[in-house]
Amino acid sequence: MRTSQYLLSTQKETPAHAEVISHQLMLRAGLVRNVASGLYTWLPTGLKVLRKVETIVREEMQRAGVIETLMPMVQPADLWEESGRWEDYGPELLRLNDRHNRPFVLGPTHEEVITKLISTEISSYKQLPISLFQIQTKFRDEIRPRFGVMRGREFLMKDAYSFHLSDDCLKQTYQIMFDAYCRIFERLGLDFRPVIADNGSIGGEGSHEFHVLAESGEDDIAFSDSSDFAANIEKAEALAPQGERAEPTQEIKIEELKLERLIKTSNLDLKNTVKTILVLGASAEGEAEKIVALVLRGDHELNDVKAENLPSVASPLTLATDEQVSAVANCHITSVGPKGLNIEVIVDRSAAHLSDFACGANVNNQSYTGVNWQRDCGEINIQDIRNVVEGDPSPCGEGKIVIKRGIEVGHIFQLGDKYAQAMNCGVLTEEGKNQTLTMGCYGIGVSRIVAAAIEQNHDKYGIKWPKAIAPFQAAIVPMNMAKSARVKETAEALYEKLQQAGLEVLFDDRKERPGVMFADHELIGTPILLVVGERNLDSQQIEVKDRISGEKSLIAIDDVMSLFK
Ligand code: ATP
Ligand code: MG
Ligand code: MG
Ligand code: MG
Repeated sequence: MRTSQYLLSTQKETPAHAEVISHQLMLRAGLVRNVASGLYTWLPTGLKVLRKVETIVREEMQRAGVIETLMPMVQPADLWEESGRWEDYGPELLRLNDRHNRPFVLGPTHEEVITKLISTEISSYKQLPISLFQIQTKFRDEIRPRFGVMRGREFLMKDAYSFHLSDDCLKQTYQIMFDAYCRIFERLGLDFRPVIADNGSIGGEGSHEFHVLAESGEDDIAFSDSSDFAANIEKAEALAPQGERAEPTQEIKIEELKLERLIKTSNLDLKNTVKTILVLGASAEGEAEKIVALVLRGDHELNDVKAENLPSVASPLTLATDEQVSAVANCHITSVGPKGLNIEVIVDRSAAHLSDFACGANVNNQSYTGVNWQRDCGEINIQDIRNVVEGDPSPCGEGKIVIKRGIEVGHIFQLGDKYAQAMNCGVLTEEGKNQTLTMGCYGIGVSRIVAAAIEQNHDKYGIKWPKAIAPFQAAIVPMNMAKSARVKETAEALYEKLQQAGLEVLFDDRKERPGVMFADHELIGTPILLVVGERNLDSQQIEVKDRISGEKSLIAIDDVMSLFK
């Protein structure tokens, strides 16, 4: 690639709105450009990196026996109704109608589509187990897209799904996937940890998240200082002995059952009209009926929501005044599920005193249902959880817990028969009986990995790509090519030779000052710079600059290929 025929798009200035280093560098190095909130165009250099990540993920999936497929991003609502998630999923699910007014969603994940596929394509136990994957664009209408592609609304995910007759078989595939994930992150050259995560009702160690360790990570991870134990903070807290678990603070403790009744019996069409329910506070006296105020927001204006429209179970019920809103707006609760409450806690980070809580509640964008609601929607802040977890003995029995920050780049999950049951996905067994399948799902944030890799690999000059995902393997930087025929000839010949050898080389044929060229290549993170200058040509040498070590050395032109062995 010649820079004269390429879109380099580097920028000197650090964009003011970009909070984390990877976002800043992705913009400055010309990897992505923002189109709208959470939506990005991948520029050529960024796309090269993205494709390399994708290739490693694809190769390891194939090696693990997972078969590639490709499902549509737009999915019919009836599949989601069948699974129950049309109502359960909440506002991250973008819903739309086609010209015939038929409802669709933009896929945030693909359990429904794949379960439907398997239910029609697989009919006999002989065809099982089977695992399929795709690498595809997902859409989640994240409430707060941020950190560039790290938390986009549209992003690239590898998602895989496996189907089995028995939980034992599922566990075997789960282990194969676990190992494949470890290989993927090793090949990517990232410092990562698998951590135990919650898998809801199934229990056990049926779910793991894979985290890239970085200070800028949105998640807290609990490690034992003397064993392999690692869990996300919520799981670590859940594993802590009962007596030591964090309790919600009183003020926001809301009587679970009453609120559930309130939602269920409301004559407002909550699931379709209300985007945010803001619980402003509940009585500290602990009595069920004393929800102080509930504001419904969304397509309804605040004024449309009259106290008399709401059921009487929660009386005395008053609508909040603006003053109250601003005073106690510390807990946004989104998503009304069909079975009462299905609640996600999002916190307004602009309220400085809530920053800790924001980390705790929002980090995993958990949906809280049923019994968990009271515990989790009460103000248990991250500090309370840390207090329970940090320095306690590790739940594994060995060592003490230390907490580090991580970026969730992968998540694997033993789902059981939740979707297969709801969507009637079964096969005939050897005995001729119909049996519902059990299922696993396995996600990797392909585009998030690009940002996570930068968080771990950069210096003040720019990105220092791990070799496996660098956009170019080398750049040729000729000094004063316009003035020296010898430099031009040598650089061209070198370019030809490296290209012939199948290497991805950026030939910097711009008429720029050397300083500008070096700054760009350091920013982009090209691992090896080959500097062709008049001075060294008498001895048939060129200068080699190593981006990772920063070392400079001279090498005979004829030996250049040895750099890439
Ligand atoms: P998070 O906790 O960060 O919101 P998640 O738990 O909702 O992620 P999963 O449903 O487990 O995400 O999806 C699998 C993977 O997809 C995640 O591990 C992550 O790497 C990636 N991912 C999820 N949401 C986003 C996003 N908004 N932007 C980029 N990548 C994402
Ligand atoms: Mg998560
Ligand atoms: Mg999420
Ligand atoms: Mg996850």
